[in-house]
Amino acid sequence: MNQRFDVCIIGGGAAALAAAASLDRGICACIIEKNQILGRKILATGGGRCNLTNAGCPGVSATLDFFASYGLETICDSEGRYYPYSGCASDVVAVLRNAVQAQGCTVLTETAADRIQVLPQGGFRIFARSCPPRGKKARDPEPIEADRVLLAAGGKAAPGFGTVGDGYRLAKQLGHHVTRLFPILTGIECGDLRDLKGIRARGRVTLLEDGKPRAAESGEIQFTEDGLSGICVFNLTPEIRAKAGESPAEAMKRFSLSVDLAPDFTPGQIASRESTFGILNERLSARIGKDQIKDWRLPVRGIKGWDHAQCTAGGVSLDEIDLETMESRLVPGLYFAGEILDIQGPCGGYNLQNAWETGIRAAEAIGRRSGKR
Ligand SMILES: Cc1cc2nc3c(=O)[nH]c(=O)nc-3n(C[C@H](O)[C@H](O)[C@H](O)COP(=O)(O)OP(=O)(O)OC[C@H]3O[C@@H](n4cnc5c(N)ncnc54)[C@H](O)[C@@H]3O)c2cc1C
Repeated sequence: MNQRFDVCIIGGGAAALAAAASLDRGICACIIEKNQILGRKILATGGGRCNLTNAGCPGVSATLDFFASYGLETICDSEGRYYPYSGCASDVVAVLRNAVQAQGCTVLTETAADRIQVLPQGGFRIFARSCPPRGKKARDPEPIEADRVLLAAGGKAAPGFGTVGDGYRLAKQLGHHVTRLFPILTGIECGDLRDLKGIRARGRVTLLEDGKPRAAESGEIQFTEDGLSGICVFNLTPEIRAKAGESPAEAMKRFSLSVDLAPDFTPGQIASRESTFGILNERLSARIGKDQIKDWRLPVRGIKGWDHAQCTAGGVSLDEIDLETMESRLVPGLYFAGEILDIQGPCGGYNLQNAWETGIRAAEAIGRRSGKR
């Protein structure tokens, strides 16, 4: 490919697609995506329904307007979480894919960006490798040249979707700093709970650090064989981290959980009952007595790793980026968007909101710079 692009977008996820869709049609753009299809992770979000933003996000109306401009209606649940009206994440991907196509963007799938070279005369050369599915022959593409690069290759969470941390490596190659990375929005391991596996219960989970409450969340708790899962549990994980120089095993000793499985009942009401059965299901009540139901203590043994995490904490340092334009302060013409940045939010649409918002902001700035918007 000898064509020189105005912009090369690395990654074909949420931030990249929102950016490509927002580029003026006069801008000659290309997307490089490792997977066979664009927006693969989006398809898995919100349990396949795509919780695309939240009423609590400052940029919520811009996101709703963005999707409405492509005819995608949304619906908000009682917790402020927005989903496509159809309840299908695939519709979110479809509108973005159509918008990218309408923009005229060249899309290279099954292609991974390996190295980015800053050219002395200005612009960038991107070296990529072909990554076809097993059985298909690999043929590496020619290096791609572009005036600008938008690095939107995501984080390290859920590597099964193509996000293994390449973006951080590419950012570092270009002189950027990456803050400490760890998996968040994932289950908490609390020991052997095999007898409770598969049970769901409503409750309030308090994270204790050295015995003192650090954070608390309410909602549906899901029991797994070695711990707890569910949105309220996921949202506690950003607080469980080792201090500098502390090993993860040492750090975990400081944390424990207190689970209230009867948040709508007072201790007096519990005391007057014969048992916990009737509030808790049979299996759970066989394990949790009246003395435990409002304050069931569980040690934190660890949190589930990258494979199960929904988001990365840490990322490309924001000190090195102009957040008005998403352009690097170190390398003119280099832009960042999405989870690759040191920005992370709780479950509920905050992380996709970050991806859409930063992607659109970068695209608008690229348009202004190219005099084409
Ligand atoms: C199971 C699951 C459910 C989730 N549910 C929600 C939800 O409902 N709401 C919410 O707000 N957030 C949710 N999240 C988080 C959200 O999906 C991410 O924060 C968001 O997708 C980040 O967008 P991004 O564009 O930065 O990265 P991604 O969407 O991860 O896209 C990055 C893309 O870059 C590609 N890539 C990586 N390296 C290279 C390379 N070297 N060359 C070319 N391409 C590359 C990857 O293949 C990937 O397609 C969920 C996450 C998971 C894993």
